[in-house]
Amino acid sequence: MMKDAIKIAEIEGGVFYTSTRNFKSAPSDILNETEAKKIVFPEKQIHSSVVVVYPEENCFECDGIITESIETAIAVRTADCLPVSVYEPNRKILGIFHCGWRGLHSGILQKGIDLLREKGGDPKKSYCVFYPHICPDCYVVKEDVGDLFPDCVKKDSGGVLHLDLCLCAEVILRKLSITKFIHSRLCTFHNPGIFHSYRRDGEKAGRMLSWSFMK
Ligand SMILES: [Zn+2]
Repeated sequence: MMKDAIKIAEIEGGVFYTSTRNFKSAPSDILNETEAKKIVFPEKQIHSSVVVVYPEENCFECDGIITESIETAIAVRTADCLPVSVYEPNRKILGIFHCGWRGLHSGILQKGIDLLREKGGDPKKSYCVFYPHICPDCYVVKEDVGDLFPDCVKKDSGGVLHLDLCLCAEVILRKLSITKFIHSRLCTFHNPGIFHSYRRDGEKAGRMLSWSFMK
């Protein structure tokens, strides 16, 4: 077991990891300790709904990747945003998505599930994995953002709004017929010894890599 990463889940041949803040080497170095043969990730994440299909398309500028390639790890980088994997074990289709409020609002998960269906995947048979991200207690948002997600925002006793990114994603995915969810339940902000957090550490915050692959 590698010390620079946490295994979030392994289910029906799908494997899901997040790096910790100890992990400082190149993403390809994680392959030494997993059964994946290569790793692909966006060169640039832009808080968009752009999802690419690997290897048909290049991953230069996007926030999600879908693949049917066995033993290819697909990854996104975050430091508070929510990484989401969707895995269809019967048809062997895997996706990973970088979900902040902008991506969720612009429909990145709808786009990802559309592509899964196009490839013959069944959302009802798919698993969704939520990686570590900022929890609602730690995630304060302004009213204009809260207004976009009325069902996923709560006002605390001081009148401050807190957004639940994971709930936002789950609500969207349930409408798209996904019912199997695996939650890491780890908060990036709450765990300074383990994770980077943009909200906590500001501009100097590093990024975690979250990745998954199919065996
Ligand atoms: Zn927290």
